[in-house]
Amino acid sequence: MQQEMYDLIIIGGGPAGLTAGMYAARARMKVLLLEKLSPGGQVLNTEWIENYPGFPEGISGFELVDRMKEQALRFGLPIESGEVTGINLSDSEKEVVLADGKRYGCRALVIASGASWNKLKVPGEVELIGKGVSYCATCDGPFFRDAVTAVVGGGDSAVEEALFLTRFAKKVIIIHRRDELRATKIVQERAMASEKIEFLWNTVVTEIQGDGKVERLSLRNVKTGDVSDLEVEGIFIFVGVVPNTGYIGAEIEKDERGFVIANLYRETNVPGVFACGDVTHKDFRQVANAVGEGANACYSAEKYLESH
Ligand code: NAP
Repeated sequence: MQQEMYDLIIIGGGPAGLTAGMYAARARMKVLLLEKLSPGGQVLNTEWIENYPGFPEGISGFELVDRMKEQALRFGLPIESGEVTGINLSDSEKEVVLADGKRYGCRALVIASGASWNKLKVPGEVELIGKGVSYCATCDGPFFRDAVTAVVGGGDSAVEEALFLTRFAKKVIIIHRRDELRATKIVQERAMASEKIEFLWNTVVTEIQGDGKVERLSLRNVKTGDVSDLEVEGIFIFVGVVPNTGYIGAEIEKDERGFVIANLYRETNVPGVFACGDVTHKDFRQVANAVGEGANACYSAEKYLESH
């Protein structure tokens, strides 16, 4: 049985969802934001953000989303912890189902459930999570003081987190499958200038080995086929993201990787369902564009509610 009916339910409390929620609360809509854990999303794992406008000195990911949450709460946005396990879109009214069995109704829905880190999918990875395998340098970096650590990936996450790790580790080896980084140029320049960072180009990790903790990596050079071992105490994996869409059925259109397709107005193919932030199909995943999309999603939801 449905517990309550809302104008708008927002699924996800990262920058996109919090922005949509703040706009909805200011517009005096009957809104509810549902977040699996505590609000923040992936940004919580980002040590320092220096490209979000308005903070010339930069700001920690934690503080930035904490401020966004405070701002949304100031306008009265209700935020509830709960894992969404399903949505029913069969009627003009939508229904959101939570893991604890609660069901909420709404007339419009904003999907802002973000994305999660990809796994490398090599032997030893899952077994050694928390024992030297990590997906968050901000969280686990301090455990690797004076250690030799590896970072896998060549995007912004990998290179920024490698730079963060240099505060603790004695050496950080970036292992990248190509000979060119994908990360933003200024971040690349810093990494190249760091005395603690080394690069292993054209190289992939084929196994993570260790007895109860990470001890060494098996590597393969993709150009020469040469295989080798590398002794490390930790491996930080940043090989892209997968969308958090497990609760969404086939009725909402997604791209081949599962990211939700939304147009410029943040409309999905289902009337009254909008999507914003990292869960959506796009090339560039930034806090700056997530908040813009969140504002747009709320505006479009408001227009939809007015006309229905
Ligand atoms: P990403 O940009 O998709 O980069 C993933 C990296 O992992 C790529 O270098 C890719 O190699 C590599 N990779 C993928 N699968 C692999 C595999 N199986 N084995 C080995 N390597 C693999 O992901 P991201 O760095 O997490 O960034 C996600 C988004 O967030 C991006 O849009 C990024 O710009 C953004 N972001 C922004 C900031 C910031 O602005 N401060 C910080 C973090 C993230 P190839 O290059 O060969 O494809």
